[in-house]
Amino acid sequence: VTIPGLSDARFAAGRHPLAAVTGAEIRTPLIHGGHVRYANLDYGASAPALSVVSAYLNEILPYYASVHRGAGYASQISTSVYENARTIVRDFVGGRADDSVIFTRNTTDSLNLLAGCLPLKDGQHSGDVLYLDIEHHANLLPWQGVPHRSIVAAPTLAGTLNRLRAELALGNVALLAVTGASNVTGEILPIDTLAALAHEYGARIVVDAAQLAAHRRINISADDVDYVAFSGHKLYAPFGAGVLVGRPDWLDAGTPHLAGGGAVRDARLDSVTWTTGPARHEGGSPNVLGAATLARATQVIAALDEKDWQAHEDAIRSYLVDGLQRIDGVTVHRIFADTAAADRPAEDAGPGSIGVVNFSLKGYDAGLVAAYLAAEHGIGLRDGRFCAHPLLKRLGLPAGSLRASFGLGSRLEDAQRLLAGIEELLRTGP
Ligand code: PLP
Repeated sequence: VTIPGLSDARFAAGRHPLAAVTGAEIRTPLIHGGHVRYANLDYGASAPALSVVSAYLNEILPYYASVHRGAGYASQISTSVYENARTIVRDFVGGRADDSVIFTRNTTDSLNLLAGCLPLKDGQHSGDVLYLDIEHHANLLPWQGVPHRSIVAAPTLAGTLNRLRAELALGNVALLAVTGASNVTGEILPIDTLAALAHEYGARIVVDAAQLAAHRRINISADDVDYVAFSGHKLYAPFGAGVLVGRPDWLDAGTPHLAGGGAVRDARLDSVTWTTGPARHEGGSPNVLGAATLARATQVIAALDEKDWQAHEDAIRSYLVDGLQRIDGVTVHRIFADTAAADRPAEDAGPGSIGVVNFSLKGYDAGLVAAYLAAEHGIGLRDGRFCAHPLLKRLGLPAGSLRASFGLGSRLEDAQRLLAGIEELLRTGP
């Protein structure tokens, strides 16, 4: 099979345009003996650190020191690395000059932080948060603690936009919370259209870009998005750091996310004056290495040739979806009927999909299929409900399904191995 933009031989030889940035490969033992190259089809959960990012981590480790409060050399370097990381991340998402860049633990933390910063009037929330039922729990549960409304997505994206418009038109929505791309099916949402819709009815928008950021360029200024959140570990950086970027007014007035040292302008024995800016929400000693490596990863991603990047992922996705659809007993799951054509990038229909494919095998438990593929074929993919229980129920998958997700280091061979493994399982039976 020859697919433009993807050649396993060139990848193995380090001559593929993306091969230079990917991290080390690992080998995995098989239950019946021997080892194979680990086919990582779980990039959607966490992506392996890029080689440049690992090297950078080693470079800054000797300067590891607490930021902001030390006069010493290492502390000054750490402080400048940490503060530079904000500028780098702001540039990565196309942030406005006055946008706040707050480092957090992950996307979940970022969205919880924003939930504590919704506008108040006379001490009461002045509007609701509106969200769809397709969201990851990180973009669903934080809003359950504040005034909220949820709506069930329609079978089409166009129908869903109509439902959102109708709900927004009822008024009193402060914030529309949407994912940039579904972690369950990979379908991309049109965030520019959604931002315009929210603004038309006086609401703001936050985009959960945990998945999107690792697959598409983001530009919150161009798309007029108010807030964006994502995690380093899904963006080829180590665990431990995430970020929230967006308009400073709500953030500067909101409840400090972590009360403690650094978050205050003046503390008295039983009262406090909080500071403004990112420090208001970053109490305690921050994760300097996490923020720095997250920022380094964004620089690598920003420097990728967009065409190579897309062609690489689109090629694997199309190949895998085609192959799965040809196997009797396999169903590929999607949320929206009108984004299906996006599996054929050439047709250019809808906003498309990222490198996430969701499927199930009729009569087979998803967990057992995943365990079989790992033990017999050296494939790592995910089974379950993907922290999106409402969506899985609505898709008729209350017991879960399987998800193959891929990224920069993935190869066509990974998709081929997955298809062969499934065919073998179906041939030999459970
Ligand atoms: N949002 C989406 C769409 C995700 O896929 C995930 C993680 O799977 C999250 C939010 C939560 O990310 P984290 O676990 O890094 O907070």
